[in-house]
Amino acid sequence: MIDGLIRTHLRTFKPYVSARSEVLNARILLDANELPLQNPLSVDGVDINRYPDPFQGELRRAIAGWISVEPETVFTGVGSDEIIDLLVRLFCEPGKDSVVIAEPTYGVYKVAADVNGIHTIQIELNERFQIDPTNPLASIRTDTKLVFLCSPNNPTGNVLSREDIVSLCKGTSAIVVVDQAYVEFARPSDDLAGLVRRFENLVVLRTFSKAWGMAGIRLGYCIANAQIVSYLLRIKSPYNVNILTSRLALKALKNRDFLVSAAALITVERERLVRALEALRTVVRVYPSDANFLLVEFRDAHRVFETLHRAGIIVRRRSEPRLANCLRLTIGTKEENELVLSVIRSME
Ligand code: PMP
Repeated sequence: MIDGLIRTHLRTFKPYVSARSEVLNARILLDANELPLQNPLSVDGVDINRYPDPFQGELRRAIAGWISVEPETVFTGVGSDEIIDLLVRLFCEPGKDSVVIAEPTYGVYKVAADVNGIHTIQIELNERFQIDPTNPLASIRTDTKLVFLCSPNNPTGNVLSREDIVSLCKGTSAIVVVDQAYVEFARPSDDLAGLVRRFENLVVLRTFSKAWGMAGIRLGYCIANAQIVSYLLRIKSPYNVNILTSRLALKALKNRDFLVSAAALITVERERLVRALEALRTVVRVYPSDANFLLVEFRDAHRVFETLHRAGIIVRRRSEPRLANCLRLTIGTKEENELVLSVIRSME
């Protein structure tokens, strides 16, 4: 079934065969026009004069082991942003196909569709920022290849109902992409990776940029049907994930203490910040969050933004009319959060 959704010319296309994908376990590497000398800048014993493994076998196995899925169902990219773009390019025919996006949500889904000349159908999440169960199905057309959902959702912070996602996967043959960039801040039961075994049309996106604290290394991954992963491996640029990134991610996966303690610290701070913000007169409401940020509605968001800005604090404004008086505040350190609160309090 997956084959039928792939863009026609990519079903038979011949991918680039990089040197390192053919030669395994050679002692002398004269196949890739690399410099044979170790660069003195070498970091952490990594031979940066060499290209990385094009298929990131070791890293994909390590990620698969961590989340208890098969390595063939894991694909790694330069941030999840690269994977969003690759999914659009793999499934959608420019000028012909469409993607459905449940708004308000992360802006890159629409940008990736726009860059690739793909029509977007924007549907609205309901007043609790959940999927209105009939809405996506009614909006999916025969030319719809992808449905983008985000759980926990950016910028609203809430997780989407698992039942709604399951019924959507059952109810459509389009690919349902659920972006779980913030899942480590939510409950273990909100993790959807295990559902990929049940639904071949489900793709779960993840990243090292959030709870892992590794936004700078640019590493994202997805869990998807092995056939989708094999197509992604064929269309990606030959050496997308670099050697330093994979080395650091492998190190991180071996010692998860930091992830666990960081996620715990952020969730404690999040709940503290919720209570403190709710006590302020200028705050209309704080939306429930399972992520590392809060969507907050103010009486006058513009004034709060400007006041915070003057104090050297930058938060995220949103342009959607629905979120006109809202700001999205990333949870910082205890000290940073205290400063935010004291600046807002000073306005009252
Ligand atoms: N998905 C969501 C929902 C995000 O909020 C972000 C970054 N803000 C990303 C994906 C991009 O993540 P990455 O750094 O892995 O490209």
